[in-house]
Amino acid sequence: MMLDEALKSLNVPTADFHVAKTVKDAERFAKKLGFPCVLKLVSKKVSHKTEAGGVVIARDLAQVREAAARFTKEGSVLVQEFCDGVEMFIGIKKDQTFGHVLLTGIGGIFVEVYKDVAFRVCPITKRDAESMLDELKGKALLAGVRGKKPVNRAALIDAMVKLSELPRKMPNIEELDVNPFIVGEKQGVAVDARFVLK
Ligand code: ADP
Ligand code: MG
Repeated sequence: MMLDEALKSLNVPTADFHVAKTVKDAERFAKKLGFPCVLKLVSKKVSHKTEAGGVVIARDLAQVREAAARFTKEGSVLVQEFCDGVEMFIGIKKDQTFGHVLLTGIGGIFVEVYKDVAFRVCPITKRDAESMLDELKGKALLAGVRGKKPVNRAALIDAMVKLSELPRKMPNIEELDVNPFIVGEKQGVAVDARFVLK
C-alpha cells in the first residue's frame, strides 16, 4: 500500500489541493479555491519548501501568477486551500526500544525551536492522545488565546489516534511527519507530510 492510500484509508482529513503544471492551471485552481490560497513548489529536489522560497500565501490572482511563474520553472505548483488555526505536528518514529511511537507537539516551521513534544507507543487511544496534549507546554494555544476560540480538540485527537494505526498497516514506515496539522475551531486538516519508508 502506498502512503497516500494508507492515509486515505485512515480517513485523516487533508486540505483541499490541486497540482498544476502551468500558470493558467494554477490560476484556475486558485479561483476555484478562493483567496487567500497557498501555492507550493513541488520538486524532487526540494523537500523543505519554506527554506527554498517555495511556499506563498496568495491574496489575489496577481500573486498567484507571480508564484506560479516562478514555481513552474522548477517543477509543478500545488495550489491548496488556506487553513486557519493552530499549527500542530503529528509524527511517527521507529524507536529502537519501543518500536513505533506517535509524537505530537506545537508545529509549524519553528518545531525544532520549541522542542515541545509528547509521545506514546503506537497505536494510541483517545485517552492517550488527551494526556499527550495535556503534557505540552504550548497546550494553552489549543484552549484559545488572544480572543481566539478553543480549537476542535476532538478533531486533533481523532487524527492522532488514526495516524497511530498507520504502522500496523505499513510496518515498513520508518518516519512520518505531518507538519503542520492545522486545527481550527471547526476542523483539523493535514497540510504537509513527509515520510521515510524502509
Ligand atoms: P515546508 O514544511 O516544506 O516548508 P509547509 O507546507 O509545511 O512547507 O508550509 C510551511 C508553512 O506555511 C506552514 O508551517 C504554515 O505556516 C504555512 N502554510 C502552509 N500551507 C498552509 C495552508 N494550507 N494554510 C495555512 N498556512 C499554510
Ligand atoms: Mg511542513
